[in-house]
Amino acid sequence: MQNAIQHLVIAGGGTAGWMTAAAVSRAFAGSALKITLVESEEIGTIGVGEATVPSIHYFNLMLGIDQAHFMRTCQATFKLGIEFVDWGDVGGRYIHPFTTYGCDLNNIYFHELWLKYAGSMAARGETVSMDDYNLCCVAARRGRFIHPVGGVPAPVGLLNYAFQFDASLYAGFLRGYSESRGVTRVEGKIAQVLQNGETGDIQALIMEDGRSVEGDLFVDCSGRQALLIGQTLKSAYEDWRHWLPCDRAIAVPCANVEEPVPYTRSTADAAGWRWRIPLQHRVGNGYVYSSPFLDDDGAERRLLDSLDGAALSAPRRISFVPGRRKEFWIKNCVAIGLASGFLEPLESTSIHLIQTAILKLLAFFPDKGFEPADIAAFNRHTQGEYELLRDFLILHYKITQRADTPFWRYCRDMDVPDAVREAIELFEARGRMLIRADHLFTGRSWLAVMLGQGLRPRGYDPLVDTIPDADLHAHMNSVRNYIDQATAAMPRHGDYLSRFCGQNSHAG
Ligand code: FAD
Repeated sequence: MQNAIQHLVIAGGGTAGWMTAAAVSRAFAGSALKITLVESEEIGTIGVGEATVPSIHYFNLMLGIDQAHFMRTCQATFKLGIEFVDWGDVGGRYIHPFTTYGCDLNNIYFHELWLKYAGSMAARGETVSMDDYNLCCVAARRGRFIHPVGGVPAPVGLLNYAFQFDASLYAGFLRGYSESRGVTRVEGKIAQVLQNGETGDIQALIMEDGRSVEGDLFVDCSGRQALLIGQTLKSAYEDWRHWLPCDRAIAVPCANVEEPVPYTRSTADAAGWRWRIPLQHRVGNGYVYSSPFLDDDGAERRLLDSLDGAALSAPRRISFVPGRRKEFWIKNCVAIGLASGFLEPLESTSIHLIQTAILKLLAFFPDKGFEPADIAAFNRHTQGEYELLRDFLILHYKITQRADTPFWRYCRDMDVPDAVREAIELFEARGRMLIRADHLFTGRSWLAVMLGQGLRPRGYDPLVDTIPDADLHAHMNSVRNYIDQATAAMPRHGDYLSRFCGQNSHAG
């Protein structure tokens, strides 16, 4: 115990800083571990980051947070997936849902059944959409939601969901949670990071007014500045712009003009894409774009022209470099959040990455000996997570059929990592998926994007031909009817939200 970490210092109080403070204070409740978080109101936070993936449930559950209270406080809505508009080609749309498609038959994957079925329907001049065989997609299109608790029976699969919320309110919510569990907040600017002259370990944060915050373990949550991991410990940054060409964003909230829908929308545009995230009290909007292909003023005009309601504040411009730190943990410093890297928000993965980094920090929590094997494992795992998510994002750009602007022509023609190329080739042959099971986005997600953007395999699994056509058609019809009836019986998302949160959930 003599070697135990006594003082943990978190540099930065954005989403990453307060999520870390909340989780560590909960995990070490009743112990002697002292936790201090340093942040500067004057510098502020990045102030965007509103859409999540379902793994957020585990984080909130770990903290013991009441869902209705959390949703009320953070103006949250339910999210069943992301609707992608104009990505495959102008005029196309599909949903990347949070649940599986249909149900398998005789151990044959549902999508293989669908490929044969869709082919036979096409021969009769009928188009069938894969979205119609997914509970989340159909519920989202109909603007319906219900908690899956005891809900929709197998075999169609349960509804799965995440949240859309105001990230600043979430950070404030977690601040209250953390402070009530003994976390000390220090306000002010960090002017210098002091290192031990012999070991190079971080010893203290020196504040602008001369105060010193000393610690044993430091978590760098200072955002893009990466004060500790980058500026002090010199972890290099791997730049992925050649694969993910967007490097700028403009964000602006607007008024709600309709009941909030239970999904995020991503609309492909001339040199990137626009997000639309409906919350209870407003809609979050943004344009993520590539600076070599579009200037900031042009992007701002395109964003403002696309708003549904009146802008509620002046647009904010943000620049970033997609990529990651070479090392996320060096000596006695662990980077979490934007300090560790950034993947553009196309699939709402940043808060998820914060969460998995926190879980890994707890799993490999050090003592003052700082075992090199623990540090190496943390770095290896984090690198793997970043690269798997990166590849999934690249897929969206690479398989576009758009050739209407130089940006989309670049994306279509660019080289991609081997893993992406191999996944596309495998799918194009017979619709096979070989995506690692530990990936946040399993084969189902890759399938959603590939089929949604118009990629069609040359053939289907030969085992499908063991099923008589009549049985195949009956199966497809029963899945579709089941989903149709299940979603028709669900309440409207806005009504459900009002009841669940016990307040008026939308302004419109
Ligand atoms: P920040 O919010 O930048 O916080 C940094 C903290 O460090 C602040 O408290 C700041 O005051 C402090 N600090 C910095 N320097 C000093 C100093 N010298 N002294 C004292 N304090 C200092 N994620 C999602 O999951 N979903 C999304 O939909 C999503 N959308 C996004 C859209 C865009 C355009 C961008 C850029 C990001 C988006 N993200 C999204 C990512 C998300 O916003 C961030 O991952 C998340 O907010 C974490 O940020 P952070 O806490 O690491 O950094």
